[in-house]
Amino acid sequence: MAFAINENVYIEHIRNVLEVITNQKDYITELDAATGDGDHWFNLNTGFNALVQRFDELYNLRFADLFKKVGTILMSEVGGSSGILLGSAYLAMSSISKDLETITRESLIDLLDAMKYAIMKRGNAEPGQKTMIDALDFGIRNYRKALDEGVDDQELLNRLISGVRAGAESTRNMVAIKGRASYQENKGVGHLDPGAVTMAIQIETLARTILENV
Ligand code: ADP
Ligand code: MG
Repeated sequence: MAFAINENVYIEHIRNVLEVITNQKDYITELDAATGDGDHWFNLNTGFNALVQRFDELYNLRFADLFKKVGTILMSEVGGSSGILLGSAYLAMSSISKDLETITRESLIDLLDAMKYAIMKRGNAEPGQKTMIDALDFGIRNYRKALDEGVDDQELLNRLISGVRAGAESTRNMVAIKGRASYQENKGVGHLDPGAVTMAIQIETLARTILENV
């Protein structure tokens, strides 16, 4: 079995992300209050609410235009660094998706890579600096290894999920080099990076939505 996800399933995952984020309000707000300024949940919630409210504009777009629209909405609606960073990630996915008709096992890794490199470039950041990049980077590495091993869809997506979770968890003991936590005296050591946690939520939710549609 090899998955092939269309635009409608992708749009469905956006609604699922909003639901998870809505339910994690206190947790995510506290994470950013500990190492930043406490607005990360509000920023993301605003962005994903805007996407869901504008679903009419998303339906019937091909992937390249869908990603572009999502990126543009996130950039304009989400305050803080995360809006610009996530927006750039979606625009980068759009630029590699000109001929993309379905998201497959192979194209998913290209999309995740495009997100990662766009955020690295926009944020002038690398893996290991206690940001959302760490969740993506760990998830991509797990996924690539599983893909090389030729595991089935279920196992492949589960490895992506465990990877993004482990990547978010790995930020706990990292010293922040980028983002607001880097201005704190202890550089956020002992605390999870909020952007890594919400990146893990977004990728895990995408993987779960794909699993429901294979
Ligand atoms: P702000 O930091 O402007 O308040 P948010 O709270 O919405 O914005 O987002 C904070 C998250 O953004 C951090 O937890 C981190 O994951 C990510 N982040 C911040 N700066 C950078 C950067 N330069 N590169 C990559 N990610 C970053
Ligand atoms: Mg913040």
